Amino acid sequence: MKVDLLIHSASQLLTCAAPEGPLSGANQGAIGLIEDGAIAIDAGRITHVGPTTDVRPTVDARVEMDASGYAVLPGFVDAHTHAVFAGHRADEFEQRVAGATYQDIMAAGGGIMSTVRATRQAKLRELVMQSHKRLNAMLTHGTTTAEVKSGYGLTLETELKMLAAISALNTDHPVELIPTFLGAHAIPDEYRDRADDFIDEVVDEMLPRVAVADALLPPFADIEASGYQPVAVFVDVFCDVGAFNLEQSRRVLERAQELGLEIKIHTDEFESLGGAALAAELGAVSADHLAVTPREEIERMAEAGVVGVLLPGTTFGLGSDHYADARTMVEVGLPVALGTDLNPGPCWCVSMPFMITLATRYMKMTLAEAVVAATINAAYASGVGDEVGSLETGKAGDLVVLEWSDYRHLAYRFGENPVATVIKEGTIHEVLDGVA
Ligand SMILES: [Zn+2]
Repeated sequence: MKVDLLIHSASQLLTCAAPEGPLSGANQGAIGLIEDGAIAIDAGRITHVGPTTDVRPTVDARVEMDASGYAVLPGFVDAHTHAVFAGHRADEFEQRVAGATYQDIMAAGGGIMSTVRATRQAKLRELVMQSHKRLNAMLTHGTTTAEVKSGYGLTLETELKMLAAISALNTDHPVELIPTFLGAHAIPDEYRDRADDFIDEVVDEMLPRVAVADALLPPFADIEASGYQPVAVFVDVFCDVGAFNLEQSRRVLERAQELGLEIKIHTDEFESLGGAALAAELGAVSADHLAVTPREEIERMAEAGVVGVLLPGTTFGLGSDHYADARTMVEVGLPVALGTDLNPGPCWCVSMPFMITLATRYMKMTLAEAVVAATINAAYASGVGDEVGSLETGKAGDLVVLEWSDYRHLAYRFGENPVATVIKEGTIHEVLDGVA
């Protein structure tokens, strides 16, 4: 069979195959390691995967890559990012280093609201340009698909502007983005002490627009003129102290479901308000953060088929030692996924390999469990488990070639980029160290 690309003789090829759904429990670490592995890609799709001795004789490749001495695995899927934003908060980082808490900074008008002010002011084009650089950095670190949230606009127009920016980046940049509407990310200044009124606006004004995004009003002509549709696949809400309570979160998520959108929840980052149980009750695709989730709610999520998205970079960035209890999650059978939570606050980090390092050292996940969490389980958490996240026939030809022959170097070495080559839908985007 004629194919576009054959990668052969990989010292280790990790398939992370999971055709039935996310991997959990004893299978959380089922990486599907093939020694001396090969993979063929044609028209952006995987046509063959297996030992080199099986695959190589059956294909006639236009381009061949000899990966001997290198480990090959699926492109990383970043299950939770806020990659689209304007400006930075380096001053707050310095305050946090000096001892201020996230809540202190938020109470003083900083935190998310500081990014909201910058993002509201930015033109759509500026937002796209600033975010484009971050996507380049993500790709270089091996991320080929990422979920991205709105939530730094908090008005109908500026939230739609963020979704239009995600749409523009999805068209122009090889990293595939899954858009999430997070209108209920923070209580805007103009609604201080009136969070219920803001939830009314999210539920009555914003959500119907996000669900039917091609009917923009004249004041949003600049978004229309861009030609990019503000669309969302998921709706998310921040259910925690300092953000929205359980009842407010329920209103947002139930309305989203009525409108036919899938749901996610930010919950249990600081205190448990019952958000994880709500995720189980409503059948959320994922529940994210889960740093303080009680075991009983972890069990309920496992039964309901929710994926737990853990964000160790944020815990690290906050200087906290309260990491999510990944061991209990694996024990009770909750599939665990990883995300960077890339954002201008506590975690401006694009690197999924660094998340794998943190997961192994601070959440006691095995390396294999963390690799599954960063690939196929993150894909299922992002609603694209059938398309990406594993090296299986018919899926997108998204993969990374590591700098080293043994995948364990992913966590073992940190602070340097382990990725030599990134391939997105069969196209080679980054080649270091002369692999090709
Ligand atoms: Zn987040």
